[in-house]
Amino acid sequence: MENKPVRESYLPYGRQTIEDDDIQAVVEVLKGDYLTTGPAVQKFEKEFAEYVGVKYAVTFSNGTAALHGACFAAGIGEGDEVITTPMTFAASANCVLYQGGTPVFADIDNSTYNIDPKNIEELITEKTKAIIPVHFTGQPVALDEIHAIAKEHNLIVIEDAAHALGATYKGSKIGSTSDMTMFSLHPVKHITSGEGGIITTNNKIYYEKLIQFRSHGITRDNDKLMDNHGPWYYEMQFLGYNYRLTDIQAALGSSQLKKIDRFVETRRKYVDMYNKAFQEVPEITIPFQADDCTSSWHLYIIRLHLEQLTATRKEIFEALLRENIGVNVHYIPVHLLPYYQQLGYEKGICPIAEELYEQIITIPLFPGMTEDDVNDVIASVTKVINHYRK
Ligand SMILES: *Cc1c(COP(=O)(O)O)cnc(C)c1O
Repeated sequence: MENKPVRESYLPYGRQTIEDDDIQAVVEVLKGDYLTTGPAVQKFEKEFAEYVGVKYAVTFSNGTAALHGACFAAGIGEGDEVITTPMTFAASANCVLYQGGTPVFADIDNSTYNIDPKNIEELITEKTKAIIPVHFTGQPVALDEIHAIAKEHNLIVIEDAAHALGATYKGSKIGSTSDMTMFSLHPVKHITSGEGGIITTNNKIYYEKLIQFRSHGITRDNDKLMDNHGPWYYEMQFLGYNYRLTDIQAALGSSQLKKIDRFVETRRKYVDMYNKAFQEVPEITIPFQADDCTSSWHLYIIRLHLEQLTATRKEIFEALLRENIGVNVHYIPVHLLPYYQQLGYEKGICPIAEELYEQIITIPLFPGMTEDDVNDVIASVTKVINHYRK
């Protein structure tokens, strides 16, 4: 292979897009009275709920804390089983462990890479309390099927939509149809507040529990107080956490939210360029796209037909790094992580996810890329695949 890399500078797989008005919005808060527990948080929550099309949005210090809050509000506790996918970030299952529950991993569909409803059904027991489906890469999961299963078995559905802000399922925005939905505001996600997470819900009881959970379990709400010693009085009614988002972060979130449709549109444009280039490459399977859904394209994953190549996934990955392409792998299946192995989850329980893991590489995709960047990625992938073609 020619030694000179396609790119001179490193291109990361994901990166935040921060513009002058975002910076200005943060500066305004820094000059104001409230750095936290002020009006910017409520403003952002209202705007976010409106965007998703839902009654309530509750911000958290990060998406993982938000998932923890959702598991608490859902009443998940010791002895409860929660079905999720292994093809996700560890947080989707860790939130169940935080509450003393047991994550159960259902294998994925081989073409969508999302949790397969058939496999969910097979794993339901008397102990099953909830399902945490993940819209992997931004491609919506089969929500109708999952909601039907949940209804039949009286289960709560908490969507992990960390990848799916701006995605739609049969015309509805992701985040508007399940009991609760989590979004992450980490810098590689669609919009960012530095760190941050949000739960959307239409359920007032969940909403109130979430608000209280993210602030130590403390309330000052007269309707909830069991006693009242005077104007200073508050009650801590259960063990919560300090999981609050600051006003500094909320202001950044509000400013970023205005740009979400533009960001997703740019991602789609680059996806079209990738699809067009890679559908000509027989050694690569391009990502799935359902006809009645739109992906928000958090990640673009190429699946390698390794039997047609003379190199391993690792060798191809390293060759792309040498071209200065910031490749990644999403994800190591959660049940294979050492902690989960120690808990007794065995290799082999989700064979489709395990096989997929061996074959995938995530290539750069974010709205701040230029078309030249996209073309560099295409040139690098093509160069490496051509070199290792059998
Ligand atoms: C990013 C992410 C999370 C966690 O979000 P944080 O804000 O980083 O805590 C959870 N699930 C998935 C699938 C994610 O990608």
